[in-house]
Amino acid sequence: MKKEIPYKIYLSENELPKYWCNLRAFMKEKPAPMLDSATMKPITQEALSKVFCDELARQELDDTTEYIEIPQEIRDFYKMYRPAPLIRAYCLEKVLQTPAKIYYKFEGNNTSGSHKLNSAIAQAYYAKQQGLKGVTTETGAGQWGTALSMACAYFGLDCKVFMVKGSYELKPFRREVMRTYGANVTPSPSMTTEIGRKMLEQFPGTTGSLGCAISEAVEEASKNADYRYVLGSALNHVLLHQSVIGMETKSALDKYGVKADIIIGCAGGGSNLGGLIAPFMVEKLQGKADYRFIAVEPASCPTLTRGKYAYDYNDTGKICPLSKMYTLGSGFIPSANHAGGLRYHGMTSVLSELYDKGLMEARSVEQTKVFEAAEYFARIEGILPAPESSHAIRVAIDEAMKCKETGEEKTIVFGLTGTGYFDMMSYEKFHDGKMTDYIPSDEELEKSFADLPKIP
Ligand SMILES: *Cc1c(COP(=O)(O)O)cnc(C)c1O
Repeated sequence: MKKEIPYKIYLSENELPKYWCNLRAFMKEKPAPMLDSATMKPITQEALSKVFCDELARQELDDTTEYIEIPQEIRDFYKMYRPAPLIRAYCLEKVLQTPAKIYYKFEGNNTSGSHKLNSAIAQAYYAKQQGLKGVTTETGAGQWGTALSMACAYFGLDCKVFMVKGSYELKPFRREVMRTYGANVTPSPSMTTEIGRKMLEQFPGTTGSLGCAISEAVEEASKNADYRYVLGSALNHVLLHQSVIGMETKSALDKYGVKADIIIGCAGGGSNLGGLIAPFMVEKLQGKADYRFIAVEPASCPTLTRGKYAYDYNDTGKICPLSKMYTLGSGFIPSANHAGGLRYHGMTSVLSELYDKGLMEARSVEQTKVFEAAEYFARIEGILPAPESSHAIRVAIDEAMKCKETGEEKTIVFGLTGTGYFDMMSYEKFHDGKMTDYIPSDEELEKSFADLPKIP
């Protein structure tokens, strides 16, 4: 008997996942190892531990343990805002008049407003376990900094955030939320670090970049023995923590006997998408089920669709380890796109490898089209989506419309990573018709590729 599917599929507290899914452990061909920028050899746990917390460094290199137990303290925190609902978009289906069935996993149900809290709390927990005094990080649009501030407040850790100057000035509310949770927020580039001073000297008046803020945060952490640097996306351990999204989504679908056909997520560094697809990709790799996975990125920062698959630095300052990934070059500075969380030049190595092997698709979309979808979705489904999340909405609608043409009753699942309350300036630009669609030229990209490190 088929159970009727509610608008919101909630899992109970005891259905909260007990394990994270380590997707890499299931991949026959593993992503290439990270390289130490000093030696250009595969990085050791010891070297990684100088920058990251010990346990996170261990998780970063673990490509054999399939499921990793979620510590009870982290599950206790998760319980405050998880399991997150999986919502059937009945209203959207109806107005689109599509035979497709659309579901979205909503990660905006916490004060920080996005999925980033899933990893922030885990990272803060391991820092606390290690007896550290605090952590440093960067934030672009502010979502990661906000999530980390919440997590650090919970565990009583000091939190130093380098916030890209443009956002610091444009998003005073984000900044103040972070300070409410006790974080110390510095606009980047700043005079507190060597790389910051160098940038300011070279480019006075610059509004900063994510890559530069990363370098500053790493430098700041390296100056203090009881601080470590933490990162909100792109790394393997962040993907691991975000697999809680996929584990819940799979349980919720299984509970109602629903099989997804297409799974869609926006991709910045790749953590929410990697987490969402993890248990489904495991089934695909094992030949147990087939799915189509679609990564959606901004046309202004087309990492997968137009980038190169090569070793590159993760930061502008070239002090972080190198990853083999789809990249636009660590010096690539995307235009002032309104989806700040998707402006990273690289794509996490796991997703890069899966994409390269044809196991995942990618699509790039222009931002006015994204905001059209965002507004449409807000009016129909009620939730005000983050610009980043709206990339996934755009493609979910496009896919549902294809089903309308072909009459196929496909089941589409997409990740709705967060809310857009702090992005109203971007919505304003859209409403006033002042939003543009900048797409980098081939020449621009070639210029950036020319600076990729030469690794044999
Ligand atoms: C940061 C962010 C993203 C993109 O980051 P990923 O690591 O690619 O998941 C997407 N949506 C929201 C709301 C974000 O804050």
